[in-house]
Amino acid sequence: MIPSSFEYQRAASVQEALSLMSEDAQVLAGGHSLIPAMKLRLNQPERLIDISRIPALQQISEKNGSIVIGAAATHGSIADSALVQKACPFLATGAGMIGDIQVRNKGTIGGSLAHADPAADWPGLLIAAAASIEVTGSKGSRTIEAENFFTGFYETALEDGEIITAVHVPQLRANQKAAYLKFSQPASRFAIVGVAVVISHDGGKISDARVAINGLSEAGFLDKGAGAALTGQPANADTAAAAAKVAGADCTPLGDHYASEEYRLHLARVYTKRAIIACI
Ligand code: FAD
Repeated sequence: MIPSSFEYQRAASVQEALSLMSEDAQVLAGGHSLIPAMKLRLNQPERLIDISRIPALQQISEKNGSIVIGAAATHGSIADSALVQKACPFLATGAGMIGDIQVRNKGTIGGSLAHADPAADWPGLLIAAAASIEVTGSKGSRTIEAENFFTGFYETALEDGEIITAVHVPQLRANQKAAYLKFSQPASRFAIVGVAVVISHDGGKISDARVAINGLSEAGFLDKGAGAALTGQPANADTAAAAAKVAGADCTPLGDHYASEEYRLHLARVYTKRAIIACI
């Protein structure tokens, strides 16, 4: 459990981090996924560029009706942020459900997104929130919608040399309600299944709904079928049950020694129903 030798460099700014990047280098943030992989020698970068102490990447601020969360903000700092608690309370709640206090104090939102573990909590939370992910490389910055960022099993739309710099989350509007519920792996607290729901209300009806699911398949995803089953319908328990029934219908569920394919799909439907009911 000892990694192969590597060089360590700490960047003081995004520009410095980008200038230090090369084929043999990898970004280090909280190290809670990268270091274990290096100890198992599944990953053997020759250089680590530590971005965890770049002040601009740690900030959480408000800009043009969105919350801007720096990539090196820890799960703990997001859970504790008064701004996130007020503008998008379900994100603060979701951040507080990640791992344990040590994981939350070191792990970062950018590291979690780049790692793209199918059982991570941020993918579904950010997809449901209609967030976008800002990435920066030598050619400048671009933004990718969260729902298009996760492209497969531990795969993302990040290109070589790009660093995630921030996440932009629209603040919830007065007519929107949101919830995140998960069935956790009891030791790590990773999501065996996690469901994030954002519902827009128009009188007694649902005018728009975003349902996103973690843990069920190879990557967190927007469940368009469940969203469509809610849109235009009355906000009641029958509607929640009808939408939950079709949740996960278009994906290939994962099965492992924690939960079979059938059980994961069952959990996804139970938690979809509960999350919708929490929003209505
Ligand atoms: P690192 O480990 O430093 O990096 C991970 C990967 O991302 C590396 O490839 C690195 O090069 C890359 N990277 C890091 N930052 C950036 C960036 N800004 N731009 C581009 N690439 C980048 N997660 C959950 O969601 N839910 C849980 O319940 C949960 N429980 C956990 C329990 C334990 C015991 C542990 C060890 C981890 C758990 N995690 C959980 C994962 C944890 O929350 C971290 O978010 C995750 O490990 C990665 O974040 P990090 O900052 O540690 O990234």
